[in-house]
Amino acid sequence: MNNIPMLFKKREDCCGCTACYAICPKDAITMIEDEEGFEYPQIDENKCVHCYQCIKVCPFKATKEA
Ligand code: SF4
Ligand code: SF4
Repeated sequence: MNNIPMLFKKREDCCGCTACYAICPKDAITMIEDEEGFEYPQIDENKCVHCYQCIKVCPFKATKEA
């Protein structure tokens, strides 16, 4: 099983709000700082249980796919 959720395709699709990080029941998401000091979520595929709560809570997905 390797189909972990795609939280964002481009960096512009993530505002670093940490909502996905906060909601993940498995602590599978880590916020990783990039070279500009901006934090992006990274999913640990070994911890992820594919509940897709992170996708549901993401404000960017909510506006795009509504
Ligand atoms: S699908 Fe569920 S377990 Fe996986 S990263 Fe998202 S919230 Fe966490
Ligand atoms: S919920 Fe969406 S916008 Fe917020 S940090 Fe996660 S992927 Fe980025």
